Amino acid sequence: MRAAAARSARIADMEGAPMARRKKIYEGKAKILYEGPEPGTIVQYFKDDATAFNAEKKDVIDGKGVLNNRLSEFFMNGLTQIGVPNHFIRRLNMREQLVRNCEIVPLEVIVRNYAAGTMSKRLGIAEGTQLPRPIVEYCYKDDSLGDPLVTEEHIAAFGWASQQDMDDILSLALRVNDFMSGVMLAVGIRLVDFKIEIGRVFDGDYQRLIVADEISPDSCRLWDIETGQKLDKDVFRRDLGNLTDAYSEVARRLGVLPQSNVTKPTLIN
Ligand code: 5GP
Repeated sequence: MRAAAARSARIADMEGAPMARRKKIYEGKAKILYEGPEPGTIVQYFKDDATAFNAEKKDVIDGKGVLNNRLSEFFMNGLTQIGVPNHFIRRLNMREQLVRNCEIVPLEVIVRNYAAGTMSKRLGIAEGTQLPRPIVEYCYKDDSLGDPLVTEEHIAAFGWASQQDMDDILSLALRVNDFMSGVMLAVGIRLVDFKIEIGRVFDGDYQRLIVADEISPDSCRLWDIETGQKLDKDVFRRDLGNLTDAYSEVARRLGVLPQSNVTKPTLIN
C-alpha cells in the first residue's frame, strides 16, 4: 500500500515536474526521452519539430507534438486491446506519455500496402499502385547513412536481430498493419505504408519484443479514400498545405480529440 502511494506520488511529481529537474536520456528529431519515475520507465515528450529528408528540411509546426502524443496513445491502446505488445503505459499530459524502457532494435520496419515514396522511386512503380500483398522492408537505423535499406542477410550477419527475432518482428509488423488498416478504413482513410520500431524488454532471462517509439501520421502515409488527399507528413515533406490541419483531421475522424468541437459559450436570452 505504502509502495503504491509512493509510486503515485512519484508519478504525480513527474507530471508537474519542471523540465530542468528531469534527466534527459536522448533527444531525437521529434521527441525527447527523459528518465521515468520508476525503474524500467521512460517519459516520452513529443516536440513540435518537423524534419524531412534526413533533417535537411526543418520547421516547427504548432500543435504537432500534442496531436502525435494523442494519436500514438490511441493506436498503442488499440494494439494492447488486441494483444499486440507495445511500450505504452499511459499518457501523462498534453505532450508526454509514460512508456516502458526497452532496447531499440536498430531497424526501421516498414510495411507497404500501396507503392509510394522510396519504393516508387526505387522500383519505378506509380504512387498509389496497390501491391499484390503487404511488403515488409527493413532499414538500418543510422541517420548519418540515411537509414539504408538492408536485407535479412545483413541483419543476421551483423547480429542486429536473430532469426527468432525476425520471425517475431514480421508477425508484429503484419498484426500492426492489419489493425491500422482496419482502423483507418473505418474512417475513410487508406493506410498506404508506415514505419514502426521494435524494442526488446527483459523479464529475468526471458526477452520479448514489443512495438516501441510512436505510431502517428509522422510515420505513416494516410490518404483520404475518396479524394486521395494526403493526411500525413508528406504534407510537410512536399509543401502540400498545413500539417496541423491534416493531423487534426485524422484525430477528428478517429474521435481522438473530442474537445476539438467544443463550442464557444452562447448567450441565453
Ligand atoms: P519511405 O521509405 O517511402 O520514405 O517511407 C515509408 C514509410 O515509412 C512512410 O510512411 C514514412 O513516413 C515512414 N518512414 C520512413 N523513414 C522514416 C523515418 O526516419 N521517420 C519517420 N517518422 N517515418 C519514416
